[in-house]
Amino acid sequence: MWYSLETIVAWAKRRAFAYPGSEIYGGLANARDLGPYGVELKRNIVDARWKHFVQERNDMVGMDAAILMNPKVWEASGHVSGFSDPLVDCKKCKNRERADKLIEEYIAKHTITIEQVQEKIWVNALAPEARTFEKQTAFLNEFKVKCPKCGACDRTEPKKFNLMFKTQQGVIDGEGKDIYLRPETAQGIFVNFKNILDTTRMRIPFGIAQIGKSFRNEITPGNFMFRVREFEQMEIEFFLENDEEKGLKWLQDRKETSENWWIEKIGIKKDKLRFREHGADELSFYSKGTRDVEYDFPRGWGELQGIAYRTDYDLQQHMKFSGKDLQYNDPITGKRYVPHCVEPSRGLTRAILTAMIDAYDEEEYTNQKGEKETRTVARFHKNIAPVKFAILPLIKKDEKQVEIAEDLFKKLSKLYKCEYDDSGAIGKRYRRQDEIGTPYCITIDQQSCEDGTVTIRDRDTMQQTRVKIEEISL
Ligand code: ATP
Repeated sequence: MWYSLETIVAWAKRRAFAYPGSEIYGGLANARDLGPYGVELKRNIVDARWKHFVQERNDMVGMDAAILMNPKVWEASGHVSGFSDPLVDCKKCKNRERADKLIEEYIAKHTITIEQVQEKIWVNALAPEARTFEKQTAFLNEFKVKCPKCGACDRTEPKKFNLMFKTQQGVIDGEGKDIYLRPETAQGIFVNFKNILDTTRMRIPFGIAQIGKSFRNEITPGNFMFRVREFEQMEIEFFLENDEEKGLKWLQDRKETSENWWIEKIGIKKDKLRFREHGADELSFYSKGTRDVEYDFPRGWGELQGIAYRTDYDLQQHMKFSGKDLQYNDPITGKRYVPHCVEPSRGLTRAILTAMIDAYDEEEYTNQKGEKETRTVARFHKNIAPVKFAILPLIKKDEKQVEIAEDLFKKLSKLYKCEYDDSGAIGKRYRRQDEIGTPYCITIDQQSCEDGTVTIRDRDTMQQTRVKIEEISL
């Protein structure tokens, strides 16, 4: 069951998860600000990731690099010359699209026969040799790929559009040095590889994790928070021996680890996830293998996480451009080599969006009067639910009930994010918590004053059970 993206966007705003950026000034295209519940959700996803992949492992460390880096970093990584998308404009309605995405979408929607593939090399328009602008133009013309907005088939030739945001460092306008806002967090890890080796006890194989903002001047941002120009990533670079067999095995092992994390720690529905292996024709020239974790978004399957075996490409490039020796000395074998690297790269902004889409539900139920009603309920996994417990004194004028409720809030909120709500009918208060996905509502009533018990209402089943106050835990 899908709910439309429009439904999710409206709920996210109404329930303080995400607002349009700079809204009082008319907004900024595709910018989003997280509200009070959105920020709690984000923190919980970050914590789940950090705990599982950094704190609970002996072969992982974390770091946090600066967003602004020496521009040579981006020359070495290939971003200055190569981080671009092919941009085409519809001549009729001026709609701007990415040629490669138009082709990808066309292939996904149409069955292209094997004869066509054999006859025309550019049918496989994602193959490296077909990535040239001429091949893309040929594909778009041959298959009469229509403009998604107006349906016309008359567009400009693709032109290269670099996705990096440029800015200036320096106090005098126009005289500063050109620098970039980082388009990925990964390079911050590669340029610190030697620092971490020299200052910690980490030995290969080991990984470095980082979470942070990245910026891409996307040609076609949109779909709420799916493709935005400022977003957050959770990346790991895992350094291995320079042995392809070991690298490929490590890449293969990531399938289970990755899927399990999304399902067990974040609570994403298994049947909405799939693992897609990139064909040889989709790989970057330095990559020995890439797997994507994809989610079934309301507008189709989309990448949540990429896992790429990048070999020694990045460290070799940084050795070349910086002149520094980034080789590893194996203390046991005495071998000296440039390590290989596998990169699991998760989108944090897309994870927040996915968690919201996956949790949102509208459910029909029969109320106590026997009438049919519909409630909105966000079925977040309790690990990531923005609020874990709502504490609700039944009668706010009852001093004893309020005293118990306030005392409970003080104790529980030291451990979990809680909310105290004493206004309105109890049914309405439950509905409010259902909408933000609070797993448990604790109600303090007359009996609580007599025997020290409270009721706990389960968000999903709406069942209430009576427990002793001391027994409450997540
Ligand atoms: P796409 O094909 O969707 O453009 P990508 O392959 O360029 O993604 P990577 O460079 O592998 O993405 O980045 C790793 C992760 O960062 C992606 O899996 C995605 O979750 C996230 N990401 C990338 N670009 C954006 C964006 N513009 N907005 C939000 N998240 C993004």
